Formats: sequence, C-alpha cells, structure tokens
Amino acid sequence: MTDVRPQAPSADLIAAEEAHVAHNYHPLPVVVAEGEGSWVTDVEGRRYLDLLSAYSALNFGHRHPALIAAATDQLGRLTLTSRAFHNDRLGAFADALAALAGKDMVLPMNTGAEAVETGIKLARAWAYRVKGVPEGAAKIVVAAGNFHGRTTTIVGFSDDPQARDGFGPFAPGFEIVPYGDAAALTAAIDESTAAVLIEPIQGEAGVVIPPDGYLRAVREACTAANVLFIADEIQSGLGRVGTTFACEREGVVPDLYLLGKALGGGILPVSAVVGDREVLGVIHPGEHGSTFGGNPLAAAVGLAVVELLESGDLQRRALSLGDHLRSRLEPLIGVGVTAIRVAGLWAGVDIDPAVGTGREVAERLLARGVLVKDTHGQTIRMAPPLVIRATEIDWAVEQLRLALRD
Ligand SMILES: *Cc1c(COP(=O)(O)O)cnc(C)c1O
Repeated sequence: MTDVRPQAPSADLIAAEEAHVAHNYHPLPVVVAEGEGSWVTDVEGRRYLDLLSAYSALNFGHRHPALIAAATDQLGRLTLTSRAFHNDRLGAFADALAALAGKDMVLPMNTGAEAVETGIKLARAWAYRVKGVPEGAAKIVVAAGNFHGRTTTIVGFSDDPQARDGFGPFAPGFEIVPYGDAAALTAAIDESTAAVLIEPIQGEAGVVIPPDGYLRAVREACTAANVLFIADEIQSGLGRVGTTFACEREGVVPDLYLLGKALGGGILPVSAVVGDREVLGVIHPGEHGSTFGGNPLAAAVGLAVVELLESGDLQRRALSLGDHLRSRLEPLIGVGVTAIRVAGLWAGVDIDPAVGTGREVAERLLARGVLVKDTHGQTIRMAPPLVIRATEIDWAVEQLRLALRD
C-alpha cells in the first residue's frame, strides 16, 4: 500500500460532502482514500477489511492487477467512440461474455438499472413481434421484495415504500407475486405475459435464498407458457455464489441474463443483457441505445473480467470460502444473531434487536476495522471480495462477535 497523501481530516471532508452532495445516501462515517485487494485505507491512514465490495461490484477486490492493466492499456489507446462507429474492442468482449453465459448475443449498457430497463424493452418487443401479444398489453411478472434499480419504471414495481413512495405515477404492465412461491408465479402467467423477472437470490432484501426447486419451477412455468425468464444476476452473478451465475445452483438457464456490478471490475460501470438471437435480435437500429454502452474502455475491462472467470477458479474459491464463512457465522446464532443466510461468499446476518440495529452493529464494526452495510433495519450483508483469505474471514467474524457485545 502506498502512502496516503495528507488531506483534510475526515470530519471536514464529510462536512464538505454533506454540504454539496444530495443526501440520497447515509454513508458510514469513514472517508476512504485508497484500496488494494480486500483492504481500504482512510484519509487518516486507518485500514479496513472491505466486506461489502461495493455491493459485489468489487468481486475481484480493489484494483485487481489484471483489470488495472487492461484499463491502463486501453486508456493509452482509445476510450470512447459511441456506437455511431465500430471499435476494435467490443466484438471480443461480447464474444467472450456470450460464451461465458452459453448464449449468442450481448447488448452492452452501463449501469444495472439500464440493463433491467433494456431487458424490459426486449421482453415487450419480443412479446409483440414474436409471441403475438396485442400491442400495449404485455405484462411482466416480478417478485415481492425485489430490487432491480432506481429508475421510475423500476421503482414502480418495487414493494419497498422507501424506494417507491413519492415518485409516481408509475408505468403499468407489472404484477408482483410473493418471492419463492412457484405456484403463485405460475398462476400469474397468462397469454399476455411477456416475461418473468426475478433475482435468483434477492441481494438487497438481505440475501434471501428461495426454496430449493423454485428456479427450476420458474423455468418450467416460463417454458410451458412461452414466456421469457429474465434473471437479474447483477448482484448474484459473476462468481459471487460459487458458480458463474446463481441460476446454476439449480442447473437452470434463463432466457436473458442481466449483468452489471462486477462486470465493470470495480473500475467503471459496465452492464449487459445476454441472451439468444431469437430475443436480442428483435431490437433494430434506432430503437435502443446508450452513448457510453459498449465503449472500448468498458469492453477492455469487461473482457478482462470475463477472462478472470473463465477457469472457474474464483467461483470454486467463493464456494469453499463461503463454506468457511458459514462455519464461522453459525456459532453466533443465539448470541446476538437470530439467523444467517449464506450462498457462496455472500451472507445475510440478522442481528438480534436486543443487541442493536444493523446500522449500530455496522458502526461498531467500522470502529473495529471492518466495513459492512446494513439493509432493512436488522440485517447486515457481507459480500467480501472473492480474493479474500480464510484468515481474514476469521478475523472479521471475530470482530463481529466482539461488536455484538460492544
Ligand atoms: C445493484 C442492482 C441493480 C441496479 O444496478 P445499478 O448499477 O445500481 O443501477 C439491479 N439489480 C440488482 C439485483 C442489483 O443488485
């Protein structure tokens, strides 16, 4: 780790930020200045183990050498063309990402929410042009507790009042069914249904894992009714759960993968919809796009990300370290923790209200050198970089054990 340059103390930097940045977040009181691997350093030189990984956008850790090399090389050649012209990097990225997913085509975007919006547009266009749903009637079935991003369309089918209230009117065409209930989902599908859009594991909801067989039942219901299965793998995908995609936990292949977060290697926003020609082929020039989507810098970083996942080593590492994390967390149940949910190297830890709120425990962990983020009041989400060491997990969980008593 290089020296942290002298700066204003963190309190001044926080005050300056709060004076001029809209308060759409409530960050923990730490000002990060540098990062390497699983660790970050604040402006006062204190080090923290990063167990949040920017909500899984940093699956490969901070400044992974292969990703920094790919970005640096590309910065020296070409960064942006717009899709008005071809660039010499996009084809290789799309080819590699499609192969990783076992699909034909990629539609590149930037943020996760844009990938979700793109999936919605593709599903509706497919329903009208291929399935034969009457124009304007297409319906998309979504799950309660979902998190798919922050655009007005997306928050319109959220059932979280904080995400939704005050931002209407909302786009019609969505139906919410309980998550994990295959019968309810199947019952909601009718002739006008274009797609089912779900997270294979709900991240923002607190790492909520559906019952065994749910994803298979969703796949079967979609196939039987000629409906697209859209898997939002923006947080669950790209190695997090011990497989490349969380759908693989049940051996299921969706029609469309929505990818983002880790696809940008923690360097820049890169997202994509990945699917077969029958679906992605419905979009024609002029119907959808993005000034930055598919830019050569994003493509170079995205290709390096795919290359890191091709051998399967990181996925296997996430699986075994996840078992390790689970074995360390289990003894905390009943002593400050009420429940844990673990999938690969991803855990939701429910804090006993007698011990404090999720936010309070996150603040105590911050004081002990561990970064986590609370979600929905009593839950702490852990999503360490996949490059973390077992001994670092041991240390972090020991800090949690102590923080539950602070
Ligand atoms: C983060 C997230 C999104 C939105 O991604 P942004 O890049 O923040 O727009 C969508 N879906 C899921 C499951 C996510 O976790």
